[in-house]
Formats: sequence, C-alpha cells, structure tokens
Amino acid sequence: MRRKIVAANWKMNLTHDEVKPYLDRFLTEVGEITDVQIVFIPSYTSIPALAVALEKSPTPIELGAQNVHWQSSGAFTGEVSAAMLRALQVKYVVIGHSERRQWFGETDELVGKKVVTALHAGLHPLFCVGESLSERDENRVEEVLERQLRKGLGDCSSQDLRSVVIAYEPVWAIGTGRTATAAQAQVAHAFIRSVVASAFGPAAAKSIRVQYGGSVKPENAQALMSQNDIDGALVGGASLDPRSFAQIVRNASEKMRAASPIH
Ligand code: PEP
Repeated sequence: MRRKIVAANWKMNLTHDEVKPYLDRFLTEVGEITDVQIVFIPSYTSIPALAVALEKSPTPIELGAQNVHWQSSGAFTGEVSAAMLRALQVKYVVIGHSERRQWFGETDELVGKKVVTALHAGLHPLFCVGESLSERDENRVEEVLERQLRKGLGDCSSQDLRSVVIAYEPVWAIGTGRTATAAQAQVAHAFIRSVVASAFGPAAAKSIRVQYGGSVKPENAQALMSQNDIDGALVGGASLDPRSFAQIVRNASEKMRAASPIH
C-alpha cells in the first residue's frame, strides 16, 4: 500500500524565528503519527532553523524546499543549488508549482531540467501539474496534464521515478478556497496514473504517489484522502495554522489505518 504524504507549503511566510513556535504547536496538536509521511516546506531562510528544531522532534518530519536551480553551481545570482539544499538536510523539493510557472515564467522544459537536477543530487521532486480554469472549461485537462507529465518527467528513468512524488494541483483551486471535488480529483489522479503507466509501465504507475493540492482544509481532507488514487496532500494556506495542518495529517493517518489490515 502506498504511504500517504502530507506536505506543508508555507510559501513566502514564516520567518526563521517563527518556525520553532509553529513546530511546538503542531506537535502538541498532531500527537503520535508514524504512518503518514509529513514534510514541511519553509522558505530558504527558515530551513536552517527548522532543520535544527526537527532534530528533536518525536514525530518524524522531513524537510522540503520550494525551489531549486537547474544547474549544479555557477553565476546565477539569487539562486540556490540542489547541493546547498542537501547540505541542510533537505529531502524534498517542489518543482513546477503553478505560482513559479505563472509568476516566474517557468516552462515545462525548465521544470523537466529541474526534476533531473534534483534527482541527480538525491532530492525527491514534488513535481506539480495542473490545469487552469480556462483549460478545464475548454475540456483540455487531459491534454494539459499529459503534456506537463511527459515534458516534466521526460528525462527520468523508471528507477528515477521511484524518487518522485507527483502533486496534482488544479490552478483554479490554489489559494482560491475552491477545491476540486473528491470525484473530480480522483478522475485526474487516475488519468495521471494512466500516463505514468504508458510512459514507465504499470508497476511504476501503481507505486508512484500522487498528492492532491488546492485549498485542502480539515473539512475536505477526509473526502479527498479517501479516494483510491489520492496519496496525500500538498497544503498551502491551511498549513500556516498548525492546528489545521495537524488535523489534515490526522485525517490522512485515519485513512491509512482504515486501509491497513494490521490495525
Ligand atoms: C499550494 O500552493 O500548493 C496550495 C495547494 O495552496 P492552497 O492550499 O493555499 O490552495
């Protein structure tokens, strides 16, 4: 069974001195959880403080970054390399987020390069795909997802794919309060799995984890997490409140326990 992964994308929020109080509150709220993989994705400047705070966390929590450069080093003022992230205990990196595509001009080709760079450095890409509202209205969801997947993962081997997590994030649901229904999300996730199957084979499609992202909150997490092809959540706004994020993690844990024959 695929282990659910729930990640908090804090975006451009929480300074380095705010992460420890956040973590303390989150740990109090979440209780003992070991069956869900939890990832915190702070801004670059908060990574060191969070890495130190996590060393003492009784609940295993992994570190992610919100971006990475596609080159391993060089004259790229203002950028951060995969090796720099690895040196700070970062394990995951968000690649292809719609905000980067929209505000920073990141193309499918660039996203594909970043995926390869991250993998070569030993990072796990949280590779985001998703259609805009107009693309959905024009019935182009499958076309858009297939293009993003084929270009973003085009230089990956089946072996590489084991380190990738895909995040389906319909752009119209990000930060808007408008969530895809569980049924809409399930259809998109199943389609994503079918594209992975045709590119990498059925075993890869069965094992790859596909998270949902887009206005996930405690109120809708349970329904989303119950879908067969939804393996967790990438949470933006609601993750800024440690109580809400803890509730979403607990929802994922309940689904894991309900599906596991040993509990
Ligand atoms: C995100 O940015 O990845 C995201 C899903 O944001 P929100 O939960 O705020 O929609």
